[in-house]
Amino acid sequence: MPDVLGPTITAVETTTVSGRAKPGLKVRGQRVTHDASTFTLVRVVTDEGVEGFGEVSATAAWSGEDAVTATHFVRDLLGPALVGKPLAPIDAHATEFDRVLRGNWFTKAGVSTALWDALGRTRGVTVAELLGGPYRREVPVKISLSGDDDELRVGYETAFALGFRSFKVKVGRDPDADVARLALARDLAGDDALLGADANGGWTLAVALETVPRLAESGIAFIEQPVHPDDLEGLRDVRSLGIPLIADESVYSPADVGRIARLGAADIVSVYVGKSSALERAVESARLANELGMDVVIGANGEMGIGAAAQLQVACACERISEIPHGIIGHHFYEDEPTLKTPLDIDGLRARLPDGPGLGVELADEVRIRFSS
Ligand SMILES: [Mg+2]
Repeated sequence: MPDVLGPTITAVETTTVSGRAKPGLKVRGQRVTHDASTFTLVRVVTDEGVEGFGEVSATAAWSGEDAVTATHFVRDLLGPALVGKPLAPIDAHATEFDRVLRGNWFTKAGVSTALWDALGRTRGVTVAELLGGPYRREVPVKISLSGDDDELRVGYETAFALGFRSFKVKVGRDPDADVARLALARDLAGDDALLGADANGGWTLAVALETVPRLAESGIAFIEQPVHPDDLEGLRDVRSLGIPLIADESVYSPADVGRIARLGAADIVSVYVGKSSALERAVESARLANELGMDVVIGANGEMGIGAAAQLQVACACERISEIPHGIIGHHFYEDEPTLKTPLDIDGLRARLPDGPGLGVELADEVRIRFSS
């Protein structure tokens, strides 16, 4: 069916949802602590009465966006740019978003998610299928641990009780404390558990070159973003130590993937729905990374149900993803996560693709009624 005969967008609306992280799981990163989220949800409606939902999983420290800026830009700029337009082709909307709004990747990605959800529901297929997949229906997952001593212990026990067996430990501040944290995490998790370290760009190159070999004594599967996002040569130098290097904050777009590959700056790139600004661009970044000889992990930013469903659909739409587990944890991060009727099937080891059309998830009634119509 030609896209031009498809539905037209009649409304774009927003509401906000908040959730508090489980105390043990709050993420004490190099720059900020993520212990609660207020995210904007987006609803797109078509003239056929189909609706689609998206989540703007934005935090100020990542991209200068939050629920206030997202709500403003969706209501006053991106929404008006969509109303009256055909739903498909969806990539045309991403191009238009870039014309009218610089940056604001996570905001654009939330709207993109709602558009893909609506198209999947219109056609009765999953978003993963619309994006060229699914290549798999299950994705291995890991969770972040942070903090020192008892904080780390409580985090590990919380995560273990939820079923998680693969972990990413936050480092990037004081090297001695970082080394001690990894050693304790290895002690807690045992010799067989997968452990990685994420510095969130917090070290200087000199500190990274000194510290990564010390962390490696605890057996790390990867080192993520050891140096500043702009320091691609630094990433390349740390990579030469021989520990698989993941670029995260350095990679938002397919163009960034190309730059990293040309310099040989990473083994793996962390692809987010949010950083990519559009689901199809996340899949494109992954495809390009593979083509240029790099592996792909799907990264996380405290996504709630809708955001995690988008991560999962993208993970299943990518032809190849890393054997290193991915950051799709959804509701497990939160004490009380209000967005979905039924949470995603994530058991700590794997996230499983839902069967339903679109994102395959249903918004909880108490959230659904906050939209105006
Ligand atoms: Mg990271």
